[in-house]
Amino acid sequence: MARPTLGTTLLLDRASARRPDAAWMSAQRANGASRFMILVDLKPVISPGPDRNSGEIRWLSLREIEALALNAEDALFLGLDAEGRAHFAIAITDHLARATPGAVQYFRPAVDLRTLAMQGVLTPEDQSLAGQARALGQWHENARCCGKCGSATKAKDGGWRRKCWACGAEWFPRTDPVVIMLVTDGERCILAHEHRYVAKMYSTLAGFIEHGEDIEHAVRREVGEETGIRVGRVEYHASQPWPFPHSLMIGCIAHAETTNLEVDTAELADARWFSREEVRAMLENRHPDGLTAPGRHAIANILLRHFVDEG
Ligand SMILES: [Zn+2]
Repeated sequence: MARPTLGTTLLLDRASARRPDAAWMSAQRANGASRFMILVDLKPVISPGPDRNSGEIRWLSLREIEALALNAEDALFLGLDAEGRAHFAIAITDHLARATPGAVQYFRPAVDLRTLAMQGVLTPEDQSLAGQARALGQWHENARCCGKCGSATKAKDGGWRRKCWACGAEWFPRTDPVVIMLVTDGERCILAHEHRYVAKMYSTLAGFIEHGEDIEHAVRREVGEETGIRVGRVEYHASQPWPFPHSLMIGCIAHAETTNLEVDTAELADARWFSREEVRAMLENRHPDGLTAPGRHAIANILLRHFVDEG
């Protein structure tokens, strides 16, 4: 099965059993062999490759971190490589990057991860690590205060837990499940154009799973709400972490039992049935009306290529 390029390669051992050991974590952060990725306003700092469309994560050594007076104590633990070397991420603001003497040569310009993914700049491994770091960094931005009592929380376990100093509540990085589904009647599929999409792009339907729902229910509800189509059988196909901010896309094939579309125009600008030939033309950028589909960075592309190849 083809894999999405964003976040499926598990390159590092997350060492989750060792993360709660504060002494071990401190030793990793102070280890001269450890490597640090920098996120500036959640954009990963990369080194450009030989051509404009390639690059790799710019890993900094502890010495470089210290020379820039960045605080390694705040570093988020990503995992250990095969040699046992610890990898961390340090999330700083653009304001701090500008104010740090000597940092400009390291940190600018930083490009947001979604753009890097769309342009295929990073290898799948680097894209995955940057996605892990971005999702975790964003969670920390939003979890500084306790949701129960409002007091400040403090990061623990290398950044994989936060604890409230006042009421003792513990908070863990969250992942938001999203269903994304190719609806098919066997020969055709439904694609939609959302108001926020670039002109002429059509993609599969998607929506957040609500409390109390299983995957199948969420697929049937979302498809029903947005298109009026009744879905029967739902098959799981593939999944993809989507670190914007911290979702998990659960890709499904949804078998339609009806074909008459009643599009919810508040949610969607347009939705209609597409033949395999039409989808193939969109994937190959040769649709007669200039319609396009999401690129290979997105799981929608995996679902569409599966649909086309099945025919
Ligand atoms: Zn609290």
